[in-house]
Amino acid sequence: MTRQERSVYMKQWRLDNPLTDEQKIEIKCYKRQLQLNKTDEQKEADNAYNRQWRIDNPAVVLKIRRICHWKKRGVVCDDFDSLHDWYLSQDICQICSVVLTTGDVCSTRRVIDHCHIKGEVRGIICFGCNVRLPKQK
Ligand SMILES: [Zn+2]
Repeated sequence: MTRQERSVYMKQWRLDNPLTDEQKIEIKCYKRQLQLNKTDEQKEADNAYNRQWRIDNPAVVLKIRRICHWKKRGVVCDDFDSLHDWYLSQDICQICSVVLTTGDVCSTRRVIDHCHIKGEVRGIICFGCNVRLPKQK
């Protein structure tokens, strides 16, 4: 089993075997205790490792930030990984057909258009069209 296959298998296993609320609390307490038991050197080593990991994996950091941002904005989705892949695969605005860009703030930047009431994703459009769309839709 490759690393990728194992990741898919584990994801499905967690869906098939959800944790009870008691188990979630137990795990949270256990992790908290691990943190409290760390020495300052261990904490600093962990921080250094995490800092380096973020430098080495900018694409993953960006993906996590995007998904976190979407969740905060009320986007509802069963599979944010697939949504992110789909988001990156879209090259044309679904409203004005402009070629979409990523990164820099500009009117052709790709953004997710979602229903602000139900949270469902309607499509990938450009920043310009997203601003022009009437609010509260
Ligand atoms: Zn557009």
